[in-house]
Amino acid sequence: ALSDKLQRSFKNLRGQGTLTDENINDALREIRVALLESDVNLDVARDIIEHIRAKALGSTVATALSPAEQIVKIVRDELMEVLGKDTARFKFASQPPTVILMAGLQGSGKTTTTGKLAAWLKKGGHRPLLVSVDVYRPAAREQLKVVASTVGVQIYEGKLSETTGTADVLRLAKEAFREARNFANDVLIVDTAGRLGIDQALMDEMAQLKKELNPSEILFVADAMTGQDAVNSAKAFNDLLQITGAVLTKMDGDSRGGAALSIRKITGQPIKFLGTGEKPDAFEPFHPDRIVSRILGMGDIATLLERAEEKLDKDKATAFAKKALSGDGFSLEDFRDQLRQIKKLGSMQSILKMLPSVGPFQGMQQAAQNVDQKQFDRVEAIINSMTKKERQNSSIINGSRRKRIALGAGVQVSEVNNLLKQHAQMSKMFKTMGTPGGAGKMQQRLMSQMGGMR
Ligand code: GDP
Ligand code: MG
Repeated sequence: ALSDKLQRSFKNLRGQGTLTDENINDALREIRVALLESDVNLDVARDIIEHIRAKALGSTVATALSPAEQIVKIVRDELMEVLGKDTARFKFASQPPTVILMAGLQGSGKTTTTGKLAAWLKKGGHRPLLVSVDVYRPAAREQLKVVASTVGVQIYEGKLSETTGTADVLRLAKEAFREARNFANDVLIVDTAGRLGIDQALMDEMAQLKKELNPSEILFVADAMTGQDAVNSAKAFNDLLQITGAVLTKMDGDSRGGAALSIRKITGQPIKFLGTGEKPDAFEPFHPDRIVSRILGMGDIATLLERAEEKLDKDKATAFAKKALSGDGFSLEDFRDQLRQIKKLGSMQSILKMLPSVGPFQGMQQAAQNVDQKQFDRVEAIINSMTKKERQNSSIINGSRRKRIALGAGVQVSEVNNLLKQHAQMSKMFKTMGTPGGAGKMQQRLMSQMGGMR
């Protein structure tokens, strides 16, 4: 990753307080490579590098930061500044329906994104109506119909006239607008035709659509994999339409998302969403810090956390908490399920160290100091060696059963004893805790108990 290279470039600089022209050149070279490898446009990369140089030159190393760290921080700050520090807001019209015009080249993901956006809006309590004005390709209109039914939103189909052309496009758009207004759809998303390249007739049509519909959002949809090319079309669409934001699709591929920087820098408009797969829910609001981390290869903590939470499977955790807090307590079987949930995340220690103190992970870092992965494996091995009956009712586990379990798990009998003791304590603790502390609290307790178990 870039930060490792920077560390190496600066290994002789330890203790030296000032960044000079010579010693930042190495670092800037690495940064340029990282930007270009991330598909940042050449001119944009050059511009960014010059900004960083100006900031870095002569700046004094803060006491807590090494020169390498300081450079990374300057780079990070600069990229954040380019991308806009906060998640961009989605604009709604003061008078519904809010119109969203989708723009972009063919294959960029407009139709797919239309569906994703509709699903996202629906989840937020809106009633979107979709319309396809791609009158030139019946298959494209059919595709949107499928998308609409997949995500369960309404579509205005309308009828095509004999002569397909811009007049037809505008008529359909107007009809859809009226339909939305008359039937209380508060958002109208207009999926448009795309071309493989910038095409004057299409661009004129887009301009007329804009004039006709007065959209609150004109979203430029760009395929992150197209890298450098995304920049040219972004510029063309923005010059003509003054886009209000962009959606970067196919971020599930290898692309590091450098196009985000280029599009932002060239259009001045924020990236509002990312597409991360073909399915309707593979869609997320854009967080500049995540792209910056991805470009810099510093590890994407926020995304990690989000995935972690998904995998933890809130429902399961809640069910577990409910059971544990009820009079029945929880069995070793429940305990093993929880362990497996946690283990799905990968190496405990690395994850716990990376997680911020948010939500269910509060206080876990502290516990992490005492936890090691092997301990988890041993605990699971012990529980695996039990019969189902034993897992469900640990009180039947007598001396000879303990010996058998220990032998099966390859551990000392004392470890089995410890686990049973801990389980009894936790079970009791949860019962007496009694208050609905939620799944997060539950796991937190569980973790610190695990830490003390050896
Ligand atoms: P349009 O021509 O701009 O309407 O593009 P489409 O919505 O038809 O998408 C073109 C292709 O890209 C389709 O095969 C989509 O499934 C795919 N696609 C769109 N968005 C994404 C994404 O975020 N990730 C991946 N992997 N594929 C996507
Ligand atoms: Mg399409």
